[in-house]
Amino acid sequence: MMNINKPTDNVIKVFEDCISNFEDETFKAKLQSISSYIQNSTDNYEIKAASNSLYSLSPSTDVNGIVTMKEMKNVYENKLVKKKQPGRKYYDKLKLAAKNRKCPLCGERTVSSLDHVLPKTKYPVFAVSPINLIPACADCNKIKDTYQPTSSDTEIIHPYYDDISDQQYLFASVNEISPPSLQFYIKTSPVETMIEKRLKVHFNLFELNDLYSSHAAEELSGIQYRLSKLHRSNGMASVQEHLYEEYQSQFMNNKNSWKTAMYKALSESHWFCNGGFLF
Ligand SMILES: [Zn+2]
Repeated sequence: MMNINKPTDNVIKVFEDCISNFEDETFKAKLQSISSYIQNSTDNYEIKAASNSLYSLSPSTDVNGIVTMKEMKNVYENKLVKKKQPGRKYYDKLKLAAKNRKCPLCGERTVSSLDHVLPKTKYPVFAVSPINLIPACADCNKIKDTYQPTSSDTEIIHPYYDDISDQQYLFASVNEISPPSLQFYIKTSPVETMIEKRLKVHFNLFELNDLYSSHAAEELSGIQYRLSKLHRSNGMASVQEHLYEEYQSQFMNNKNSWKTAMYKALSESHWFCNGGFLF
């Protein structure tokens, strides 16, 4: 659930670089003939992605009836992904764009490869379009493969188009029993907005509560000693103040990280601040 700046490399430049060293001139000419079709389709992708309607693009087994899905897959795998091939520089650049090498889909695990937002097997026309290629961790990549949105509000968050950095959507609640644990959720308005609906779909699909809860459990163990010391010397108020400051610090860094949600929930739990941290 992290935004990444939209890539600026033009799809035709990427495509033409990728196919530049194919030795079979007939095959190369066939690929060159779909250049403008790829450009037009990618322009249309831009419009759809910006209006929450990527789901409405029709899948296809070929590109404009000329190049097959397998042939486009070949371009992607052998010219963009493969090391020392002419498209590899774009692959590396897109992968490196992830902040702190973290997967933008979960915001937590390390990026392992590029993932097609619209899969290349169903949308071969976007096989090498930079705006359809996002860095992702292996787990999110695998989960996303099985997912097909059917409407605007069931689309997952697109890291290049959906910027959620201005507002806190991710929250947590403390299970006030020993040992304490945290439950994460997307907080929604009384009438859910489009982004809230999509965040909920995204959060559930990638099983982010499980992921964040387990990290939070480890964090709780790690802060126990410090909180005990604070509680012993200055009482509950100092524990609360410390947790609130930590929340503010995390909030300034990333409003939608699990740590921001966690420290907010902990600082607001009287039970936790008054000794619930001991377990
Ligand atoms: Zn991930």
